Amino acid sequence: MPDRGQPETDVYLERRRRLMDRLRDELNLSERVYSAMLRVPRHIFVPYNYRDEAYADTPLPIGRDQTISAPHMVAIMCELLDLKEGHKVLEIGTGRGYHAAIVAEIVGKSGKVITVERIGELAQQAIEILNSLGYENIQVVVGDGSRGYESEAPYDRIYVTASAPKIPEPLIKQLKNGGKMVIPVGNYMQNLYIVEKDEKGDIKKRVWGAVRFVPLFGEYGF
Ligand code: SAM
Repeated sequence: MPDRGQPETDVYLERRRRLMDRLRDELNLSERVYSAMLRVPRHIFVPYNYRDEAYADTPLPIGRDQTISAPHMVAIMCELLDLKEGHKVLEIGTGRGYHAAIVAEIVGKSGKVITVERIGELAQQAIEILNSLGYENIQVVVGDGSRGYESEAPYDRIYVTASAPKIPEPLIKQLKNGGKMVIPVGNYMQNLYIVEKDEKGDIKKRVWGAVRFVPLFGEYGF
């Protein structure tokens, strides 16, 4: 999305391409998700001492007992959300902003990502990284995302990057008719749910499969 001028020529681009080519084959990624993930420099989002591990397909620590999500999980969630240019998307659990940047690449300048993080220090780091990379279509909010973010609702898409005890009612309310949400639910045994709201406002839920996320805290969390 941002115009970064000169193409990146460092060793990280090569590592990122290798990882993304593998994930494209293994997960049968769409061109839209593959090319967005290829444009986002994950090594900038991890703490400096983890840069050399940034293109291993694994979560990494970002401080405060939290993690940056594994690339395959980000890719799977983006595919399940069926993101389109122009979508208004709510993310719960910003971390350092990696997943939000990928979604922002996909929804483009006519779309918007609102992302809520409860830990102010992580939100601040995300703001600095996203600004340094030139993202203008991402709004980082500090707060309890288990309540959603009413003032920008409704959303075309919602996704949650921490596991909830059950699907928070405010998130269902803040989803547009015809919208879609992806959310991990459970404590030790977690499942990734896909929630669809049809044009009449009726809800359909289905389980994609087992996953492992950090807990969602807050009023509708643990
Ligand atoms: N999206 C991140 C990325 O791109 O790598 C991954 C974030 S990490 C797996 C989950 C995040 O959810 C943590 O930063 C945690 O602080 C946050 N979190 C947990 N409960 C929350 C809540 N109620 N509201 C907002 N953020 C929350």
